[in-house]
Amino acid sequence: MARNTIAHIDPSAIAHNLERVREYAPDSRVMAVVKADAYGHRIDLCLPALERADMLAVATIEEARAIRRLGNGLPVLLLEGVNDHGDLAVAADLGLELTVHHEHQLAALERFGRSPTKRLWLKVDTGMHRLGVPVEAAADMHRRLRAVPGVEQVNLVSHFACAEEPSHPLNALQIERFHRATKGLEGERCLANSAGLINLPEARFEWVRAGLVLYGISPLPGRPGPSLGLEPAMTLTAELMAVNRVAAGESIGYGARFTAEHDMTVGVASIGYGDGYPRSMADGAPVLVDGQVCGMCGRVSMDMITIDLAPCPAVQVGDEVVLWGRGLSIETVAEAAGTIPYELVCRITRRVRFRSR
Ligand code: PLP
Repeated sequence: MARNTIAHIDPSAIAHNLERVREYAPDSRVMAVVKADAYGHRIDLCLPALERADMLAVATIEEARAIRRLGNGLPVLLLEGVNDHGDLAVAADLGLELTVHHEHQLAALERFGRSPTKRLWLKVDTGMHRLGVPVEAAADMHRRLRAVPGVEQVNLVSHFACAEEPSHPLNALQIERFHRATKGLEGERCLANSAGLINLPEARFEWVRAGLVLYGISPLPGRPGPSLGLEPAMTLTAELMAVNRVAAGESIGYGARFTAEHDMTVGVASIGYGDGYPRSMADGAPVLVDGQVCGMCGRVSMDMITIDLAPCPAVQVGDEVVLWGRGLSIETVAEAAGTIPYELVCRITRRVRFRSR
């Protein structure tokens, strides 16, 4: 029988979260960010729930190709844009909208001689200092992009660095620079990511660009998804492979890092770093067994973890263990691993089976 380590995906939660995004930004159109295989949730399972999005955004051409292969015809924006003739030809073939974040991308478009689609998105660097043209260059780049044959609209985008901290001074600076860069230019604007959408109402322009919240996960420290009216789209489960008694004074797992202070009932669950469950998970990290929060004990191995079953001593081999999702917020789990929920969902490996509810 197949190993019971399963990522349960709930498309109705994604549809619900999309509606929450619309409630946060009722006057904006919604670009649903589905890069990295829909933040690890699997694009094929998520797309049907995103029918009501105004467009999709991905990072790479391969991600866009996967969307077209699934027969989805929504507009797709390539967030990284493209740099050469071959990729421009593919973009034209797939009908992809492009981000243009650098002079060299504009030059490639000019050499190509036409735009793959009528609409392009000029990315302005307002303070993240990753991708984007300088604020002062925006008007000139906009004019030149508008002159590329086939272009009918050039929209403007930028990206926040600190939107999860609403009082961070960089937010106001980025908004002010975005206004300066876009002033007097034709075209719609898009600045807010998930955190900006919630924290910074003044950053909801004609478009918002939401990723994490669509999957029911909060980008805001100390405010898990359910507190924002979001529903987790992924619940990751494993099963108890063994339930053992460990005597006081004995150690558990690699490196003998954890020692039982008293006699314990210890569960062994079928998930490890080979499945994407981080080895950095701290002792005591929460897992849910029989509806009870239990603490992980000992090191995470490649294929299994060990759990202190004190809160639920009656559980048996074969019972389900929830690693995150419904009943156990991934934000709390990420904190115990010293990482962010984005990374947890993106790092699940192919060994884990996906099932749509
Ligand atoms: N826009 C860009 C350019 C991004 O890189 C990302 C995510 O990394 C997003 C939007 C979506 O961000 P979030 O998932 O925080 O909504």
